[in-house]
Formats: sequence, structure tokens, C-alpha cells
Amino acid sequence: PSVKLLGPAEVRDLAGLLNIVPTKKLGQNFVIDPNTVRRIVRVAGVRPGETVVEVGPGLGSLTFGLLEAGAAVVAVEIDGRLAAQLPETAKLMAPESSLTVIHQDALRITELPQAPARLVANLPYNVSVPVLLHFMEHFPTLLAGVVMVQAEVGYRIAATPGSKVYGAPSVKAEWYGSWRTHGQVSRQIFWPVPNVDSVLVGFDRREIPLGTEVERLATFALVDAGFQQRRKMLRQSLQPVLGDTTTASAIIESAGVDPQTRSEQLTVHDFLKIARAAETSAD
Ligand code: SAM
Repeated sequence: PSVKLLGPAEVRDLAGLLNIVPTKKLGQNFVIDPNTVRRIVRVAGVRPGETVVEVGPGLGSLTFGLLEAGAAVVAVEIDGRLAAQLPETAKLMAPESSLTVIHQDALRITELPQAPARLVANLPYNVSVPVLLHFMEHFPTLLAGVVMVQAEVGYRIAATPGSKVYGAPSVKAEWYGSWRTHGQVSRQIFWPVPNVDSVLVGFDRREIPLGTEVERLATFALVDAGFQQRRKMLRQSLQPVLGDTTTASAIIESAGVDPQTRSEQLTVHDFLKIARAAETSAD
């Protein structure tokens, strides 16, 4: 389809037209560089005809790149002015394309008009991890995706056990699939320019879910407790969930994990084993 991408002038003009003063609260930094947009779309491996969900389309910088690749885009935008303008802009920039804009908080959305195959987004920075986990949880048809996030957050999501930045987001993300970073993106490609650089993070969902929903919740409770006190040994940090030291140690041991290690050494499988052991010991 014949689609035009937004450059610096178009982004400025649209923001002026809408009287938009980008807000930090909503993480409004708009991409002004078509090369970056095409890079994201290429890394995401978007295929013509597939449904892509985009969170926070803003003025449409990435949206038009996705439409250019022939995707059917469902875009969820919390800002009413931006949500109302996007279909209008699309009439000019991407006529004949398939675009559905939904004015809603992405953290509250549990249904979409089309089952999305892929998530591609330049996420609002303050809610990037919650949005990712929410979409993984509620949209099981999402098999893969690429998101742009604040560099520090991206490295944390993709971190493996033993690394300094490995934390609760890493383990929770690992529940759903495998994650990797695809290189940094300069802050200069945004308007306004944020204080930090970004990184592209890609994921592929596991073919078979790791466990049931009940097991996921039990595992996530352990993960939260375990990283709340990440310097402490498991037998201590997991007490809020498992009970006193003796009980906690017994459960952790019966899962085949050393109660004297720390959360930062555990894979999601280890946390799941402990959750299952706790369930068995409660029976
Ligand atoms: N995709 C655009 C781009 O690349 O230029 C804008 C990206 S900007 C970093 C984040 C966008 O997410 C903004 O348009 C903002 O209004 C929107 N947003 C913020 N919080 C949101 C939420 N909870 N649900 C949906 N959209 C949200």
C-alpha cells in the first residue's frame, strides 16, 4: 500500500494542530525518524495481512510503518485527542490501510476486535513492564513481538539469572517466553528528547505454557517476595509466602532448590518448582 511516514515536520505540525504539549505522565515522546520506524518493523518481522496490536500509537509514527508493511493494525491509545486524530491522519498518510483505533487504557483492555498475532509498540516508559505482562497474560494469540523501551528496563526484562539487573520483571517475562534485546536506539530520534536512550526488546512466546493460571499466580507471589529482599537467602526472603524458616527451608529443599541461595540465581522453573512444592505441602 502507498503509505507515507511521519518525519520531524509532520510530527511538529500534527502536535501544533492538536495543541498537544507532550506529557511526561503519559510517556509522550514521539518518534520523528522514519529510519528507526522501518528498523523496528523489520526487526519485528511483520508480515502482510497479519494483525498487529500497537500500544500508544501517539501521532502515528510507528503505526504508519506497520501499515506500510501491510499489517492490519489495532492501536490502543489512552489520550483522547490522539485517539481521535489518528484515523484522520491515516486518511492522508495511509489510505486503503486497515487501522482500528481504540481509545482506552492499555492496562485495562482485555478484549480486542481482532486476535492479535504480534505486539509492536514504542511503549510509554512509566508503564512498559505492566503493559507487557498484561498483554502476555490477556492475549494468548500474541506469539511474538518487538517493543521499544527505556534501555535500563529493556536490559532488565531480557536479563538471565546471575546478572546484576536480573529481577522480578525478568522472571515474570520468562514465564511467558524468551526475550532478547536488539540494540540501542538514540534518544535523539524522539520529540521531545527524553533523558535516556532506548532499546528494542523482542520476544517469542513459549509453545506450551509453563503452568496453569493458579501456578502462575503462586509463582509470581514467590518472585515478588524473593526480589523484595534480593540480598537475603531464599529461606528468609520467601517466608512471607511460605511460613517460618523451618517450613520455608523444607519446602524449598523438597523442590530441589538450595534454601541458602538467593532469588537472583533462580530461573522461572525454580520458582515454579517451589510453588508446586508449597502446594503439595499444603495438601
Ligand atoms: N507510538 C508513538 C511513537 O512512536 O511516536 C508514541 C509513543 S509514546 C512513547 C507513548 C504513547 O502511549 C503516547 O501516545 C501516550 O499517550 C500513550 N499511552 C500512555 N499510557 C498509555 C496507556 N496506559 N494505555 C494506552 N496508551 C498509553
